[in-house]
Amino acid sequence: MGKANCPYCNSGNIFNIAYGYLGGKKDKPNYIDQEDIGLHINYRKHGLVKYDFDGEQMSYRSPNRYCKDCGNTFHSRKVMYTVDISIITFIICIHDNYYKYIFDFSDKENPKYTIKVNWIAIKENKSLSIKDRNKILSSFKRYKPNVWNGHYGDAYDYTKYYWILKCVYYNGVDYVRSGNDKIPSNWRYFVKPFKEIFNEDIFDLKS
Ligand SMILES: [Zn+2]
Repeated sequence: MGKANCPYCNSGNIFNIAYGYLGGKKDKPNYIDQEDIGLHINYRKHGLVKYDFDGEQMSYRSPNRYCKDCGNTFHSRKVMYTVDISIITFIICIHDNYYKYIFDFSDKENPKYTIKVNWIAIKENKSLSIKDRNKILSSFKRYKPNVWNGHYGDAYDYTKYYWILKCVYYNGVDYVRSGNDKIPSNWRYFVKPFKEIFNEDIFDLKS
């Protein structure tokens, strides 16, 4: 398993958490016992039930890492849930204009967005409704940009448009997808909430 840095303080002083049944692992130097960091003995069984933004219960996962510097626990798993999306950056350059949409979902109760056109902010840290936030997250969940190709289009020069989509999860894991003059096959479904919320046709890209 790769070495995870702490998502809270970026420290590398990370220990694996050994839960009760792991027995012998508790004695390994990079493991720390759950009880030594204040996780109750029944924590693994009852401690963490997580729901997606649309109310769907997600598979169970306990933290598996402990940061000795700040004392937080977290999960090192690379496959993240939609509900864990923290920042989305969506860039479209078309007709010589550069549009940048930044969605900040790190505060789950107060989703925000910023829009820049040609590097100038025309909306900054505006509130987005929970309903609109959920529409965007639903699109990520259904049309899975995380499994799109890394890049669409043959070369990086373009004649019509280019686009970049970056998604960062709360623990710092991220992915970037991009394209020039070419889009994935489910694009028009994926961009529907963006079109609806912002009433913008720049999202109507065609291969
Ligand atoms: Zn830390």
